[in-house]
Amino acid sequence: MNDISVLGIFVADISFSGLKIPAVGETILGDKYNIGPGGKGCNQAIAIARLGGKVNFISKIGKDSYGDLALNTLKKNKINTENIIQDQNLQTGVAGILVDKNSGKNAINVIVGAPSTFKINEISNQINFIKRSKIFLTQLEVPKDVTLHCLKIAKESGCLTILNPAPASKITKEFFSNIDYFTPNETEAEFYTGIKITNEKEAKQAADKLISLGIKKIVITLGEKGLFYSDGKKNIYLKAISVKAIDTTGAGDAFNGGFAFGLSKDKSIEDCLEIANKVAGLSTTKLGAGDAMPYYDDLT
Ligand code: ADP
Repeated sequence: MNDISVLGIFVADISFSGLKIPAVGETILGDKYNIGPGGKGCNQAIAIARLGGKVNFISKIGKDSYGDLALNTLKKNKINTENIIQDQNLQTGVAGILVDKNSGKNAINVIVGAPSTFKINEISNQINFIKRSKIFLTQLEVPKDVTLHCLKIAKESGCLTILNPAPASKITKEFFSNIDYFTPNETEAEFYTGIKITNEKEAKQAADKLISLGIKKIVITLGEKGLFYSDGKKNIYLKAISVKAIDTTGAGDAFNGGFAFGLSKDKSIEDCLEIANKVAGLSTTKLGAGDAMPYYDDLT
């Protein structure tokens, strides 16, 4: 039995670190590059597995060298790969990432590849795994009909569902009633509410608006400022941990992974948020996304 099922994508992250993110038309000489595992779903699965959670990753990859990187990465991190569909006619996804090494900030272009062709009728085994999971976690990188179908099945089967609505894109009302936890970052929260978040008060306004749409619990991540949680009654604001961030790629994924892990262990909401905040903060101290996820022992 897998405690947590994650539906999402794997991409090979090809990241370039330098003194700045080049402007349009500009060429700079950077200082380091890295090719490693990425894709929000895969990063979140790695974060959970490294904390010791039992995780099942549902995805689609091609039969190419980056597909091999995907399978090797998942196996190395003890993630269940039974629900990975490998299609030799499709390409495994890639992402080009430009990192400013001073601030850790980035600009990213993702080519989703194989999972963009995901269809509901090809995932019956995957659905059985979701039904037997305690937590179902997903994002908005695979086709939305598949995402919604899985969220509904998860909810019907009594799973706790988490939607990390990233990258931000329009979702129908039907999504909202099938989500227990909605975890946008501040830009995504602004996309869904129209409220620009620069402080705790605005984060609360955005959370209230999301709750009025039918979502039960909201966690808005606020980058280096931390996070804001609301379920309509209880509001929690937590500062980010103090670290020297060198690459924030995958910080939100680390957060979602840590949060799902906490929930799978029946921790209190306060503890889940604290774990997530710590996992995410620590992930910013290393270059890369999936490779930068901390282990349980790093938390102490
Ligand atoms: P995303 O990666 O989706 O844009 P955020 O930037 O909001 O998400 O970051 C997610 C979480 O990562 C934050 O809530 C915080 O816990 C942690 N985090 C991000 N940047 C930093 C930082 N500079 N220092 C410490 N923690 C950070």
